[in-house]
Amino acid sequence: MITGSTQILGVMGCPIEHSLSPVMHNAAIEVMRSVDADALSPLNYVYLPFSVKPERLAAAIAGFSAIGVQGFNVTIPHKQAIIPFLSEVSAIAQAVGAVNTVYPTATGWGGTNTDVIGFLAPLRAMGHDWSQTQAVILGNGGAARAVVAGCAELGVGQIQVVGRNPEARQAFLQSWAASALAERLDSTLSVHGWEELPLLLPTATLLVNTTPVGMHPQVGASPVSLDLLQQLPTGAIAYDLIYTPRPTQFLRDAASVGAIALDGLEMLVQQGAAALELWLKRPVPIAVMRQALEDALSR
Ligand code: NAP
Repeated sequence: MITGSTQILGVMGCPIEHSLSPVMHNAAIEVMRSVDADALSPLNYVYLPFSVKPERLAAAIAGFSAIGVQGFNVTIPHKQAIIPFLSEVSAIAQAVGAVNTVYPTATGWGGTNTDVIGFLAPLRAMGHDWSQTQAVILGNGGAARAVVAGCAELGVGQIQVVGRNPEARQAFLQSWAASALAERLDSTLSVHGWEELPLLLPTATLLVNTTPVGMHPQVGASPVSLDLLQQLPTGAIAYDLIYTPRPTQFLRDAASVGAIALDGLEMLVQQGAAALELWLKRPVPIAVMRQALEDALSR
């Protein structure tokens, strides 16, 4: 129930209509509020979508300050553009070059990136030693940056990023030089063209799709042919950041050749849970968030 003391959380992006974040966060808030029902001051928050056009970003941030928003997520197209408006940016967000979670500080807004935590959660749950892992990452866009940072944090032995634009690939490689991960990535990160995939796959023990190939409207398409996937070593992990459809053609094919298949739903859940925990400063019901997303996606 919204009352005079309800505090506001939210997500800003453009477009924002299709965001699943309000469903996931409000489900968690509702459960936490019911657990708190008898407390002196029960949890009282609502999480709202805000459609903010690029040219209105500054006005929106000032407005959020003015009305006392308690924290917000940032999505396309503001993940980089918001950085100059923040008074502090976490080391991981600086390395990734993008912010997806903003919180109030004594001196203004602070920003961090919980996509890395989200990406890592299902991998950490496997409890592997990743030092011998050879990761092949398909795509070199925004999500690939969180994946590379995550692989560096895991201590992955080799990180090979595959991109289709030579200039963009080189810029991607060079962009890490001044980051907090520079030392770790210096000897482990390399970039490659798609034509090199047949050479990379036979030793790829972690293959991550960060391209949108396989999601609507390309449902049924896969970034890697079934023939090539057959080159993967035994026990390889195929990880698709896409969370709808479930599974994607890429994961369907990877599972058919014996790979362990992970989709992007858990990443979405865990990046959201990490943000909500940061704002509320208490543990959040992750299972409730996961269920809310699964229900929304199956509608
Ligand atoms: P992005 O910044 O646009 O990057 C997409 C990358 O894929 C670019 O390198 C692009 O190459 C490449 N690409 C696009 N179409 C391609 C094709 N047909 N063949 C080869 N490469 C292609 O997008 P993003 O923000 O990184 O998001 C990528 C995907 O990750 C989306 O499906 C998104 O839903 C998913 N994602 C999931 C989560 C999660 O929580 N599960 C979080 C973030 C993102 P060019 O630069 O050459 O176009």
